[in-house]
Amino acid sequence: MTARPDLLAAALASAQRGWPVFPLRPDDKRPALHHATRCPRTGPCTAGHASWEQRATVDPDAIRRAWEHGPYNVGLATGPARLVVVDLDVPKHPGDTPPPRWAELGVTDGADVLAALCEQHHQPYPADTRTVRTCSGGTHLYFTAPPGLVLRNTRGEQGNGLGWKVDTRAAGGYVVAPGSLVEGRPYTVEHDAEPAPLPTWLAALLTPPPPRPLWRPVNPSAGRGSGHGYVAAALLNETANVAAAGEGARNWTLTRAARALGRFVADGRLTRAEVEDALKGAGEACGLPARDVTATITNALNWSIANNPRGEAA
Ligand SMILES: [Zn+2]
Repeated sequence: MTARPDLLAAALASAQRGWPVFPLRPDDKRPALHHATRCPRTGPCTAGHASWEQRATVDPDAIRRAWEHGPYNVGLATGPARLVVVDLDVPKHPGDTPPPRWAELGVTDGADVLAALCEQHHQPYPADTRTVRTCSGGTHLYFTAPPGLVLRNTRGEQGNGLGWKVDTRAAGGYVVAPGSLVEGRPYTVEHDAEPAPLPTWLAALLTPPPPRPLWRPVNPSAGRGSGHGYVAAALLNETANVAAAGEGARNWTLTRAARALGRFVADGRLTRAEVEDALKGAGEACGLPARDVTATITNALNWSIANNPRGEAA
C-alpha cells in the first residue's frame, strides 16, 4: 500500500491541535489496529492489549512511523482530545424516515433535529464552531468538553441521546478526521473555526441522570391544594422537574421550583411545610446533598414569599 502524504499531513495537523490520532483502515471508518481478541501481546501490547483510545497519540514521530506504511484514514480520539462532537447524520435510504414525534415537526435529518431542540430550549443553533462535512453529507460539530464533566458517546434517541440521526462522540469515541476518504468520498472542513465550548444546555441533556433513590411524586390531593387543580398540578410538575434534573441543572431547577411554588405559600394556597416536604424528596432524588437541598429551598422560598403578593387572610 502506498502512503499518502496528505493523510499523514491530516494526522499531524490534528496532533498539533492536541487531538490524539490513530490509523483507520484505508477508505474505511474502522480502526486499522488489531482487536483485543486477536492481540499478539507484542509491541505496544506487551503489557496487555492497548485499545485504539490508549494508542491514539499526538507524538509526530509515532504518527510518521504509522502513516508511512499505507494510506490510512485518520481517527481522532474524542475522549483524550477533550472534545464532544455532535454527529448530525442524514437518511441512508428513502425508507429511513423520522419517528412520528420528529416527523410532525417537519424534521428530515439530524441537523433539523438539533434545530428543533434549539427552538424547544430557546437557544441559538450552535453554528459558530469547527464544522466538518462527512463522507455521507452529514455534519460534525466540534465542541470542547465541559471542564470536570466526562460525557460519553450517545446514539440517536437511546439513553441520553439527543434525537433521531444525532449521535455524539466523546469519551470512548472517535470521529473520522477531515482529510480522510471513505468509499472515495472526503471529509472536509466546512467551517474552520476553533471548537466552541459545548453549550451548557446540551451538556445538561447529555449528562446521564444519577442513580435515583426510590421516589414517588407527592400526592396532588394532599393538603389544602386539593381544591385547586392548578396548584396541585404545579406542585406535581415542579417536583417532577426537580427529580428529573440532570447534573449541572439541579440546583437551578430546585431554586426555580421553590420560587414558583413560593407564591402559593405567599397567598395561602399551600403551606410552607407542604412545599418543603415535596421539594426535599425531589431534590434528594435528583442527587443533591440533603444539606444543600434544605438551604436552597429555604433561600428560594424566603425570596418568593417576600416577592409575591399575600393572599387574603382567611
Ligand atoms: Zn493488542
